[in-house]
Order: sequence, then structure tokens, then C-alpha cells
Amino acid sequence: MAQVIVIGAGISGLTAAYALSKAGHEVAVFEQCAAPGGRMRSQRIGGFLMEYGANSILTPAPAAERLIAQLGLDPEKVTRGTAARRRYLVRGGRTRSLPLQPCRFLLSDFFSLPGRLRMLMEPFVPAQHDDETVAGFVRRRFGSELLDYVVDPLVGGLFAGDPGQLSVCAAFPQLKQLERCAGSVVGGIIRSRFQQGAKPAVGDPGRRVLSSFRQGLGTLPRAIARQLAGRIFLGHRVEAVQHRVSGGYRVNVRRGSLAQWSTADSVVVALPAYAAAAVLCGLDERITEALVDIRHPPLAVVFLGYRAQSIAHPLDGVGVLTPAVEERNVLGMLFSSTLFAGRTPPGHIALTAFIGGARQPQLAMLKPRELEELARSEVRQLLGGRAAPLMARTRCWRYGLPQPGLDHAHRLSGIAACAAEHTGLYLTGNYFSGVSTAACIQQAFDTVQRVMEYLASPQARRRLVA
Ligand SMILES: Cc1cc2nc3c(=O)[nH]c(=O)nc-3n(C[C@H](O)[C@H](O)[C@H](O)COP(=O)(O)OP(=O)(O)OC[C@H]3O[C@@H](n4cnc5c(N)ncnc54)[C@H](O)[C@@H]3O)c2cc1C
Repeated sequence: MAQVIVIGAGISGLTAAYALSKAGHEVAVFEQCAAPGGRMRSQRIGGFLMEYGANSILTPAPAAERLIAQLGLDPEKVTRGTAARRRYLVRGGRTRSLPLQPCRFLLSDFFSLPGRLRMLMEPFVPAQHDDETVAGFVRRRFGSELLDYVVDPLVGGLFAGDPGQLSVCAAFPQLKQLERCAGSVVGGIIRSRFQQGAKPAVGDPGRRVLSSFRQGLGTLPRAIARQLAGRIFLGHRVEAVQHRVSGGYRVNVRRGSLAQWSTADSVVVALPAYAAAAVLCGLDERITEALVDIRHPPLAVVFLGYRAQSIAHPLDGVGVLTPAVEERNVLGMLFSSTLFAGRTPPGHIALTAFIGGARQPQLAMLKPRELEELARSEVRQLLGGRAAPLMARTRCWRYGLPQPGLDHAHRLSGIAACAAEHTGLYLTGNYFSGVSTAACIQQAFDTVQRVMEYLASPQARRRLVA
């Protein structure tokens, strides 16, 4: 019997369990896999450091930074290498650098003249307040060229998504906010810079920093799991959550062929939407129906390690992204060894390719050898790969990232309303306020706040005394 059962030991569940336990509550975390971390897992293989899922945290991210500091991990932090200056995009089959400064961006021959003129019209486009797809929003405000060659690859890189399907309010709430408040995105950015002086402006990528740890992002979940020793149960799959007649919840947990019930006053379901749907189907079909429709197209990660001289490209950037109109077989490739130091043995480089997502879900389901071959071929064509990699590893996420569609806000409020009928039941995870690990951490802290309010309520106290 714990006060709170947390289901799932990804970064969402671990953050929630850590915060609850730090506040003095008894927690038990059940995780189906043999290791904690979920989509945040790193492994050193022969001197190369592979990230199986998340690669970096974008800061400033106050909740994530606070968590990292509380765990004493600040000395382990690494930030984007100075050589990772550029952003590359593919256009006309070539890998081209995209200028980031506004003037150079507009003067660059990356875009056609009509395309640039159309972008300059943005401040004069009337504001529209309703939600719309990312593609609809960008095409309406900036024109098709920016959509096809910048936003589409960016959405591929951030969400493994299709801008024609994603809600702009859910995926890029700041952009819609700028349009709503200032009537234009460009006008809103200029105004916020003017108002904030030296402070970072909304949507200003130049002031943001990509961070990780010396031994990869997996350092964070591993550190939390150490703090939760004795309260985290790996290899324990939760199959059902039910109300107890006497109040609180009972949770059916399976370990191998053994199934048993555990009880708690409160339950935090920190699972991806599709997994939460399965666990909650006996409790509330309405929640399950709302969760199960959130799409998670499959996404494959291919990590390749080469001798440095095997790649002609200088790899002086974060990576290269591919627009859908270019019809490539990768969504993009991170220059992992440029992004963070210490990822390879000396004289070597590492690349991480992403395949599939909403654009080409069928590709992510190919066999590991086929995925590796696709990635190697793209390295040859886009980065001048001249020799075979020394090492290659693949990881397919059968369910990749959640895709917040146009009905997402409505769906979430429906889930929240139904969940509120189950006193002491809370849901958290990457389908609420953003897929990034930073957003998951913030969401988990917010959820913990509500759990603690409930545990301190007269209703919960009466039950505890009884
Ligand atoms: C390839 C890839 C690259 C990414 N890159 C980045 C990046 O660079 N930066 C960034 O910020 N974000 C990135 N993300 C997103 C980010 O990693 C995730 O959104 C975040 O880690 C999700 O954390 P979570 O705890 O909510 O879910 P998960 O990490 O999915 O954790 C859920 C946990 O629940 C467990 N579980 C599932 N069902 C059950 C059950 N029935 N019983 C018990 N346990 C169960 C799972 O095994 C898992 O451990 C990336 C994601 C992917 C897939």
C-alpha cells in the first residue's frame, strides 16, 4: 500500500514520483521495462554514445533546470558545441546552410524572390483567431515556400509530424499567441524584443541553448531512479486500474506470469496516450476513447559511427533536415558528435538519422538492416559519405511521438473533465503540453501540485484516518 502509485518510469513518471517523494509522500513506481527512462535512454557502445530517443533539452526550461540542479547534475551538463553553428536543409537534392539572421535569411538565395516578397507581406496579413493546421497558418501568413522548405522540415524534426495534420495552437502556441496579441508574428517578435530589452524574445532561436549530459540524456532518469531506490519496480507492467470499494485505487501489476494487486490513495498515470488508454479501459471508457485516437506514427532512429575522414561534409551544424517535397528517406540527421563533445572516440564522428514519422510511417517499420542501409545511402548522398560506418545501431519506436491534431484542445479538456470525476486519479505525459522532455517535466510538476492538493484535502485525510 502506497499513498501514490505512479505508472511509468519515463521522465514524466520519474519527475512526478521524485517530487512527491521529496515532499514526504510514499510512492511506488511501476515500469514495464527493465530500465527506467522510457524514450530518454543513452548507451555507450565502444566509445560511441548513442541516444535511443531524446537527444537534447532546449533551455531556458525552468522546471527541467530546477530538477537537474536538485539532483546535483549541473557539473555533468554539456551544451551545444561551438562548431554546431549552422542549420542545414535540403533543397534541390543539395544540403544547404540556412542563414539564421533575419536580414541574411531574407537576402539568401535559398528562397526565390517571389517567396521572399511573400514572407515580407506577413505583417499585413489579417489575423485569424481560430485554430488551424500548422500548414494552413504558415501558408496563410508567410506563403508556401517558407512552409515547404523551412516549417515542414522543422515539424519533421520536432514532431516527426506532418504540418498539414498538426494544430498550430497545440504545436506552436507561441506563434498563434503572437498573431492574436500583435496581429502578426513578425510584429509580435519585434514588439516583444522592444518591450523586453535584453531579455530573450518569444520565438528567438538565437538565445536558446541545447543541453545534455556528458553521458547522454539518460543520465537524468538514471539519477532520479537512484533517488527512488526501493520505490521503483522495474519489469512490472500495469494492466488495469480500478476503484476500491473502500476508496482509493487498486492497480493490477504483472511481473512475468505473476499478477497481483497494489493499492493506493492516488494514482498518477504517466504513460504515452496509447498505453494510458489500455490501462484505463476498465475504469472509464470515455477517457480511453479520447486517448486512443491520438496518433503516434512509428519512428526509427539509426545511429552511425564513422572515421572522421569518411565524411566529406564539415558537419559544422546541429544537423540537416529534409522537406517532404524533396522526397528523401530520412526526416533528418543530427550531427551528434558536433552537437555535444565526447560522443565518439577521437578522430571519429557520429550521426543520428530519423526515419518514418507521419511522413513515411511504413519506412520506420523496415528491418534494422534495411533502415541502416537507407540511412547510409542518405549519408552518402547528402553528406558525402565515402566509406562504410564502423558501427551502426537502430531503434524503432513502434509508437513514436503524439500528433496533436485540430481537435487536440477539445480532446484534452474532455479527458480532464472525465478524469476529474475519478477523485485521486491524475494523468500526465507528452500528449498534454508538448512532446519535449522539458515540457514533460513541467507538466509532471504541475500534476504533482494537484496530487498534493488532493492528498492535503479533508476528503483524502478522512480516508487516510479511516
Ligand atoms: C526518437 C525520439 C527523439 C526525441 N528527441 C527529443 C529531443 O531531442 N528533445 C526532447 O526534448 N524530446 C525529444 N523526444 C521526446 C521525448 O523524449 C518524449 O516526449 C519524453 O521522453 C516522453 O516521456 P514520458 O515519460 O512522458 O513517456 P515515455 O518516455 O514513453 O515513458 C513512459 C514509460 O511508461 C512505460 N510503460 C508503458 N506502458 C506501461 C504499463 N502498462 N505499465 C508500466 N509501465 C508502462 C514505458 O515502458 C516507458 O518507460 C524524442 C522522442 C523520440 C521518440
